[in-house]
Amino acid sequence: MDPTIDLASAKAALDDERAKLVHQLHELGADESGELTGDVDYGDAFADAGAATAERTEVLGLVERLKRSLDEIDVALGKIEEGTYGLCEECGKPIGAARLEIRPQARFCMECKSKR
Ligand SMILES: [Zn+2]
Repeated sequence: MDPTIDLASAKAALDDERAKLVHQLHELGADESGELTGDVDYGDAFADAGAATAERTEVLGLVERLKRSLDEIDVALGKIEEGTYGLCEECGKPIGAARLEIRPQARFCMECKSKR
């Protein structure tokens, strides 16, 4: 039997994770929407333009990943508001408190996740 999902601690974990992601995005010179704000000038730090381009591509990849994680967290926070948090998006069954504790933004139960 799964213990009941503690929504307050799930929300706290999600808020915490969200703050970390936003911080990481800012450090990469991007805002919450994943747009580069232009505060970071990639050109100056590198003598070689090729290296600057490679660095920029890498940063954009990182920003993209962070943004996707941020979206997942926002979806999870929205579900807490709606009262559907902890239910699998695929089959509608409970995802399970143990899984949510490890991954509070999980959208699918283990069974559906393994099928994807
Ligand atoms: Zn499922």
